[in-house]
Amino acid sequence: MKEKIVVIGGGIAGLTAGIYALKAGFEAQIYEKNSIPGGECIGWNRKGYHIDNCIHWLTGTKKGTQMYDLWKETGALSDETEYAKINAFYTSTHEGKSVTLYNDLEKTKKELIEASPEDEEEIKKFIQYVEYSKQCLFPAEKPMEMWGIKDYISMGKDMADMPKVMKEYSKISLGEYALRFKSPLLRKMICDYLPKEYCAYSLLVSYATMADGNGSIPMGASLQMSLRMEKRFKELGGKIYYNKGVDSIVLKNKKAEGIKLEDGTVVECDYVIPAVDSNLLFNRFIPKSYMPSDFKRAYDNAKDYPVISGFQIAYAVSVNYDRGETVFIDIDPIKVGNRTFDRMYVKAYGYDPIFVKDNKQVIQTCISQTDEDFEIWKSMSKEEYREYKEKLIAAVSERIVKSFPELDGDLEYLDCWTPLTYERYCNAYHGSYMSFVSTPQAKQIKFNGRIKGIKNLYMAGQWTGSTGGLPVAAASGKFAVQRLLKDIKRDINI
Ligand SMILES: Cc1cc2nc3c(=O)[nH]c(=O)nc-3n(C[C@H](O)[C@H](O)[C@H](O)COP(=O)(O)OP(=O)(O)OC[C@H]3O[C@@H](n4cnc5c(N)ncnc54)[C@H](O)[C@@H]3O)c2cc1C
Repeated sequence: MKEKIVVIGGGIAGLTAGIYALKAGFEAQIYEKNSIPGGECIGWNRKGYHIDNCIHWLTGTKKGTQMYDLWKETGALSDETEYAKINAFYTSTHEGKSVTLYNDLEKTKKELIEASPEDEEEIKKFIQYVEYSKQCLFPAEKPMEMWGIKDYISMGKDMADMPKVMKEYSKISLGEYALRFKSPLLRKMICDYLPKEYCAYSLLVSYATMADGNGSIPMGASLQMSLRMEKRFKELGGKIYYNKGVDSIVLKNKKAEGIKLEDGTVVECDYVIPAVDSNLLFNRFIPKSYMPSDFKRAYDNAKDYPVISGFQIAYAVSVNYDRGETVFIDIDPIKVGNRTFDRMYVKAYGYDPIFVKDNKQVIQTCISQTDEDFEIWKSMSKEEYREYKEKLIAAVSERIVKSFPELDGDLEYLDCWTPLTYERYCNAYHGSYMSFVSTPQAKQIKFNGRIKGIKNLYMAGQWTGSTGGLPVAAASGKFAVQRLLKDIKRDINI
């Protein structure tokens, strides 16, 4: 009889773990609290329009990379997958001027220098280091603790210029980096996309991924990708149980022997892979005393290890924006949560027919939120929450129209969602949809997915790697199965 693995959570990490468990010859079952797969990687419909929650870029869309192989293996992508024809990362506007980070780095260089000749040297350096950062490819073949000397030599060759990037940009935050530019517009541009507390290299690597054609958006959007992975899991013989919230992991003699569902049912198994938020794992599924010290340090110090969420609104508009553009704009200051914002973005989704209905397309906006903002949302009564959202919707709509006068009278409100939505839907810590942010002052969280003192338990999920995101989540699912295989002395090549 096959040994049985139970995976908790049907997000990208859980689906990947399930698929690789089946490929390795185990019986695999996934228990998911919601009624559909995908976790954070989903979308939903309002008034007949599709709203996307996740993919702004998917690292691993370039053939020949290890991450592409993983996406292909899990059914997320195939050689036939079509991608959105978007030719830029984003555009920043400020005081009537704008600059765009195109996928074509030469074009960007020219535009940035034209916008700010006095920053020419810093701009050239930025572009050069983005070019170096194209070498930064996500290693998805096996967990790093299983690397041998050959793997390190090969990485050293492939990523020869990355140490320069890390030396130059890992010790400063984006906020500090922005100050190297004289132009107020370029300063805004540097801090627009990622929170200013992030290490500066994060922006370079993200932009390089897009510019290298390794961060495209699959047509059909996030939910369809999750459904493709669910299909692959089921085709391989896996069983996924929806609306089955897990209450805890059953431990006996310091060994995971099953899970207890919220309805009291106990499901026995040989191995458990929790692919959920780490806060849920360590504060509910197993006793807190098992939390590794690196995680404790991060949870106890939100300043150095912040998490991010967002306040988001979706509208339908009849203006035809077909380039999939993300545009950052100046706004009259607006307080959202505990902080006041003078920038926000508007993203037009007309690049994919899934977001278009009756010649109208979806546009969305997001104002980033963090731990201190979450406290404000959390402190509200149901009625206060409803009123607060309504006030913000009016304020944000007014600001969009001020920057895009063509949308006056054309904004059809569809939906809004907040950090509390992510907490409710995915049990996400402080509503965060990534893991701890990489700040210059934070120490790297080192974690190999095993929980000291508990056998047969292998953690997966984006929280196993700093900053999180889809590639971290997916690779963590595969790595959890490989760690188990290693422990039972089986071949890890699956
Ligand atoms: C607005 C937004 C934009 C994003 N943009 C990008 C992007 O462009 N690129 C990128 O790489 N990443 C992006 N991300 C991040 C990405 O979505 C996440 O990193 C990834 O989906 C996390 O996957 P996961 O499986 O680790 O966790 P989750 O998606 O959180 O999955 C965990 C699953 O566990 C389930 N669960 C929770 N509690 C229980 C329980 N008690 N019992 C059973 N099941 C439970 C949840 O319902 C969920 O399905 C974005 C996220 C958001 C929200």
